[in-house]
Amino acid sequence: MDEKLLRILLVDDDEDDYIITRDLFSEIKGMEFDLQWVATYDEAMKVMGQNNHDIYLLDYRLGEKTGLDLLQQTISNGCRSPIILLTGQSDHELDIKALKTGASDYLVKSEINADLLERSIRYSLERKRSEDDMYRMAYYDALTGLPNRLLFQDRLNQVIKHSEREKNIIAILFLDVDNFKRINDTFGHTAGDGLLKEIAARLGHLVRKGDSVARQHLDNMFARLGGDEFTILLSDIHNAEDALKVADRINQVISKPFAMGNQEVFVTVSSGIAVYPNDGDNSDALLKNADSAMYYAKELGKNNCQFYMQSMNERAFESLALENDLRKALENDELLLYYQPQIDIINGKVIGVEALIRWQHPERGMVSPADFIPLAEKNGLIKPIGEWALRTACNQRRIWQDAGMSPIPVSVNIASLQFQQSNFTQIVSNALNDSGISSADLILEITESTLMKNTEDITNKLYEVTNMGVQLSIDDFGTGYSSLSYLKRFPIHAIKIDYSFVKEITTNPDDAAIVEAIISMANSLKLEIIAEGVETEEQLQFLRKKGCALVQGFLFSRPLPAYEIYDYCKKQENSCGDVLSAICIDVKTGTDPDGSGEDHGTEIHDI
Ligand code: C2E
Ligand code: MG
Ligand code: MG
Repeated sequence: MDEKLLRILLVDDDEDDYIITRDLFSEIKGMEFDLQWVATYDEAMKVMGQNNHDIYLLDYRLGEKTGLDLLQQTISNGCRSPIILLTGQSDHELDIKALKTGASDYLVKSEINADLLERSIRYSLERKRSEDDMYRMAYYDALTGLPNRLLFQDRLNQVIKHSEREKNIIAILFLDVDNFKRINDTFGHTAGDGLLKEIAARLGHLVRKGDSVARQHLDNMFARLGGDEFTILLSDIHNAEDALKVADRINQVISKPFAMGNQEVFVTVSSGIAVYPNDGDNSDALLKNADSAMYYAKELGKNNCQFYMQSMNERAFESLALENDLRKALENDELLLYYQPQIDIINGKVIGVEALIRWQHPERGMVSPADFIPLAEKNGLIKPIGEWALRTACNQRRIWQDAGMSPIPVSVNIASLQFQQSNFTQIVSNALNDSGISSADLILEITESTLMKNTEDITNKLYEVTNMGVQLSIDDFGTGYSSLSYLKRFPIHAIKIDYSFVKEITTNPDDAAIVEAIISMANSLKLEIIAEGVETEEQLQFLRKKGCALVQGFLFSRPLPAYEIYDYCKKQENSCGDVLSAICIDVKTGTDPDGSGEDHGTEIHDI
């Protein structure tokens, strides 16, 4: 038998029986025990509720109640220590009933001797231990030792039942570690596991002991749902803001650096809160909604906490519906390309067109790429969609050529994910060959994020396509980690200044300075530069003055269907367009266009 002191409670209404039992215990060798005795049902309930004993011996006869009643009650209260029922005489039916109710053994008093008692206790404790092991495996997370999803939901359901009666509120905090995958990828899975354990330890300390907000609530439960997801159940809080206070404290304890080998890493978490009963009346709904709120916190840039709102699920639903439709859009021929002219303001000529995708949705009408390209990038559909766009743009370029339109290149937007396809170079060369256009007539617009991946594989592909004769331009320049110096490492032909800078060049000095710097650096690197989103004459004047001659924007033309491009180009060839004419008149009459009296850089010539 175990060396440790066994705490035993005997519930028996007969003091003589207590004395007999005590004497029997003293005969058992090698067992240190502390036997406590209570004589009534009520007292037993009180003492057993404190959970202070390793084993219970209950007499069947307890005044008006029975030991079986007590057994039933304590088991349903969650008692986890073994209970042995004692009776005056042998009763087979009672024996079965006791075991079914949860007793670990059933002993007839007249038959008990020290050996039997010792054996019964030893077996009961042993059985209890293996039950505990199984329980731990089923309900606890092996890595952190925290309750798992099953136990969390179990407890949550219990607390909800309790709250239905008491009318109090409960909050669930759903936490997810930000960028955990990156940590795993960088430091390895063992280190990632170590980090999760450390996070669990810090939060466990906070939820159980350290924090007064969290500590007030006795039924708090902290669980690991899986991966890098944790949940905290806050029961009986006064208001939803209390949950936010806990989230704040969590951010504080997590913000201290974690040791990873000999490095320190900083970790943040995003969390969502769902509150019972407003955000759901069952454990599934509450967990799902807290999860949606957490997801929303991620979308807002991570490292923050959000309360659940119904609109979040509507949004998730909406995006799911859109995703389903998008899967069918290609087959159903619902995608099309518009083309936006790019103008050289020196001579007013169209120097190229950018292909911009549109989705003619059967019910929603024309859907903007801003609404479905990010979705397609997330679910991988951008690969077939992007290939379709590339082929369609090349074919269209061929049709214009055959119709006698002046030979201008077509630019096609390429997402990062497309570059990650092993056969990307082949896809490009197939599109060129099948359409029969020259590689010089195709420009691929890539984003800074593609370059930032900077893997050997992507760099190789960039060289493969440019070696074919295709040109590359950097789209939305300035919105990423723009470092012009790395442009030198890649075979880049042009950069496009993002719309967001052009928008305020005439009103925001910071944007003006950025645009000016981009233009002068691009010029010194001998890169072509195109300004996107030019909407006003003032913007055009500014760009011209600073030496940016190529522009694209609503001031000249919105993106147009393919058949309108032909006419647009023809018209533009014959005149430089109204906008440019106005500026040209300024130049011709010698009027300073912006009244600054400064050197105007690239001059607009007579057209
Ligand atoms: P982007 O490549 O930077 O394209 C320029 C966007 O600016 C286009 O929006 C264009 O309509 C808009 N724009 C042009 N001039 C002006 C202007 O003067 N004012 C304003 N406010 N906007 C102007 P669009 O067509 O909605 O496309 C949005 C984005 O969707 C594109 O940005 C591009 O990143 C992406 N996209 C479009 N087509 C494709 C495609 O075929 N493949 C991929 N991967 N992405 C695409
Ligand atoms: Mg573009
Ligand atoms: Mg752009």
